[in-house]
Amino acid sequence: MTQQRILIWYRNDLRIHDHEPLYQALKEKAQIIPFYCFDSRQFGQTPFGFPKTGSFRTQFLLFSITNLKNSLQKLGSDLIIRQGKPENIITDLVKTLEISTVYYHQEVTAEELAVEKALAKNNIKIKGFWGTTLYHPDDLPFEINQLPELFTNFRKKVEKDFIIRHTFPFPKQLPSLPEIDVGTIPSFEDLGVEKPILGEKGVLIFQGGETAGLTRLKDYFWHKDSLKVYKETRNGMLGSDYSSKFSAWLSLGCLSPRYIYEQVQKYESERIKNDSTYWLIFELLWRDFFRFICAKHGNKIFYLSGLQGLDIPWKVDETRFKIWQEGKTGYPLVDANMRELLATGFMSNRGRQNVASFLTKNLGINWQMGSEWFESMLIDYDVCSNWGNWNYTAGVGNDARGFRYFNIPKQSKDYDPNGEYLKYWLPELESIPGDKIHEPWKLSQEEQKRYGVILGVDYPRPVVDFFKSVQDNEKIYNGAISRK
Ligand SMILES: Cc1cc2nc3c(=O)[nH]c(=O)nc-3n(C[C@H](O)[C@H](O)[C@H](O)COP(=O)(O)OP(=O)(O)OC[C@H]3O[C@@H](n4cnc5c(N)ncnc54)[C@H](O)[C@@H]3O)c2cc1C
Repeated sequence: MTQQRILIWYRNDLRIHDHEPLYQALKEKAQIIPFYCFDSRQFGQTPFGFPKTGSFRTQFLLFSITNLKNSLQKLGSDLIIRQGKPENIITDLVKTLEISTVYYHQEVTAEELAVEKALAKNNIKIKGFWGTTLYHPDDLPFEINQLPELFTNFRKKVEKDFIIRHTFPFPKQLPSLPEIDVGTIPSFEDLGVEKPILGEKGVLIFQGGETAGLTRLKDYFWHKDSLKVYKETRNGMLGSDYSSKFSAWLSLGCLSPRYIYEQVQKYESERIKNDSTYWLIFELLWRDFFRFICAKHGNKIFYLSGLQGLDIPWKVDETRFKIWQEGKTGYPLVDANMRELLATGFMSNRGRQNVASFLTKNLGINWQMGSEWFESMLIDYDVCSNWGNWNYTAGVGNDARGFRYFNIPKQSKDYDPNGEYLKYWLPELESIPGDKIHEPWKLSQEEQKRYGVILGVDYPRPVVDFFKSVQDNEKIYNGAISRK
């Protein structure tokens, strides 16, 4: 009997550890063909005209692919690389290389599912595996269509019926490739993406790839021992260790959530088990939740009316949107965070919640514009986490808590009391004392002169009155609720 050939179609699972398709193909003693396609559609534009995959994420992806290729080579194999539409390229490869089956990790959202469907339509034998979440959908204590709409209910149920599968072992060796042109890793130019200008101000040097992801975990857990205080530090905004920063590696699958879970367990048995160790897993459950919500609701998460189906007359105000994008709203907390995103491709969770709230609850601007901007800019963009979180922050998610907004000046005082984060990203406010920096519009003429910050010249006046804009948008929101 001739040896069967299995194509491992790499997607957002750019790793060797805990990789079920690779593990199963090895178990079947098949000849393994690892393959990655830079899907040209992912390098187009979003409906509002932003680069769909921006510079920071492209850089992270290119590093991750280089790393995967090196790791596969070390194991005796290689990564075949192409650029175009995966469904066409895979179909050709299957024919020319006489491949019996295509193994891959399943996705849940429209663009990704369309490629899987196109392959099936081309009569390609495909086999999907689930490997993106902590919990396997088959182990959930409910069917996906019965998934609780509220995170807390989801969490309570899954934590009660507790199964997290073991990671798959790391392969020792892989079979070599047949005679084939392996292709080359495209350049920024080939992908039509501008090279990012990387400054020194980012929270971390986000180097793509499994090796760097595993190193970050080792550093954060084992060398710096930061996990033991995660719950206290996680709302920070400045520096590398207030949170794990695993999101970028998780988004491309360079790190497996199950591996993180096993390392937390190890940490709990060897170092300490406390609220912080629990809380990191708690946050990973949010990630699972949004993925399962997408699996349950299909395209609804992308609709303007969101999961709740709320018909809100959002504004498409290009001028104010640009002010938000560039960090010139006159609200230091919003501006500092938006400038961090622009300069580095990253923003803390606290920052994301505040800027998203400001865009939707103060400016009343179409939340999809914000979500697309994040899609373009974020180094850790994850379709389910991003669109899911935007649904919830914009008030169109299924949490049914009515109109809720972040009190930006208060958040600024609570989470950056001395204004260190603000000063880091807004050097023009440097000489304003910590207690006054959060609300520069309250500075008297005399104070403006003393601190060298003239409003409207050195730093913008607020683009809207905070509480009046909240009230106006609340009325609009409540109007949509009453029409529902
Ligand atoms: C408007 C908005 C958009 C967002 N877009 C994304 C996105 O595109 N990609 C993304 O990974 N996260 C997104 N998040 C969630 C969260 O902000 C990031 O996961 C987190 O800031 C990443 O930093 P970290 O890895 O240090 O997080 P940590 O605090 O160390 O958390 C550990 C992990 O838990 C998961 N996690 C934590 N909070 C959330 C959350 N609210 N939702 C889903 N998963 C979570 C992430 O995988 C994260 O890496 C978004 C949040 C908001 C409010």
